[in-house]
Amino acid sequence: MRSPAESENAARSPCTLCGARDAALLSRKDRRGRPLRTVLCRGCGLAWSDPLPAPDALASYYRDRYRREYQGTQRPRRVHIYRNGRNAIDRFRQLRRWLSPQARVLDVGCGGGELLYLFARQGYRATGIEPHAGFAEFAIREYNLDVRIGGVEQVELEAASFDLIALYHVLEHTLSPDLVLAQVRRWLKPTGALAVEVPNLEATCQAPNHRFHRAHLFHFTHATLAALGQREGLRAEHAELSADGGNLFMVFRPAEPAPVDRTALRENFVRVQSRLAQHTWLQHYTSPRPYLRAVRRLVRTLEEHWAVRGRRCGREILDACFAALPAA
Ligand SMILES: [Zn+2]
Repeated sequence: MRSPAESENAARSPCTLCGARDAALLSRKDRRGRPLRTVLCRGCGLAWSDPLPAPDALASYYRDRYRREYQGTQRPRRVHIYRNGRNAIDRFRQLRRWLSPQARVLDVGCGGGELLYLFARQGYRATGIEPHAGFAEFAIREYNLDVRIGGVEQVELEAASFDLIALYHVLEHTLSPDLVLAQVRRWLKPTGALAVEVPNLEATCQAPNHRFHRAHLFHFTHATLAALGQREGLRAEHAELSADGGNLFMVFRPAEPAPVDRTALRENFVRVQSRLAQHTWLQHYTSPRPYLRAVRRLVRTLEEHWAVRGRRCGREILDACFAALPAA
């Protein structure tokens, strides 16, 4: 029989990356203080919500509640369209070196369609996938975009047909990030590129008690995301962190699937555990980071409200936002 301490540390499901069940308890609460158990695999340093939710419950959550709980709405609000439009410009610049003229691009989890609309305006053949019917229908109606409603598992697309596939803040929301990577790899041309951005588990820009979010089921570092890709036939070609360290952006190319290096991953666990232990509440609030972040957010909110004044629809907001971007 396991001792209580051992039971607390054992994961209820095996690790998606390395198969281990031996895990360290990271947290018992989400960022709103509600119960949410998060564990860190001792075999590799991948973290996840344990237990993971049932597939049906998760699907209905994304279909009906997620947008309402986190954005307070069932269709994009004007300030969010503007914010996502500004993000779309940053993302487009980030992706440009992997885009050839006339490339066919797929945006997985395209939300209200801001990045997809930018791709279409720049002359790329753009397709989106979005599980939330309200946001997907808005993107179709407002910008005349090709958006398929559903998750990666439900949508059917032609194999080897995309030059660039983008997954911005998608993998951490899925029950099986390995299966999602395997599916998008099938849609990628042999010469194509897959861009993935996820929250960085090792980030210190947020307070330690704000790290875990009910909607984020998995938490990655550079090593665990690269290894998961490698196992699914995706070779990491590029990696970078956002300026505040909060997001990890990686680009993969199709390759032969390869087994993961277990010794290196065990070292990753030790490194991640030690980094998280160093990021304490006291250390966070005695640094200037949280105060600068709060000021930046306030300035951003004021700027967003100013920018959308008098704009009646999403297309007007985005056309004004993208006007400064040179045509392809
Ligand atoms: Zn593991």
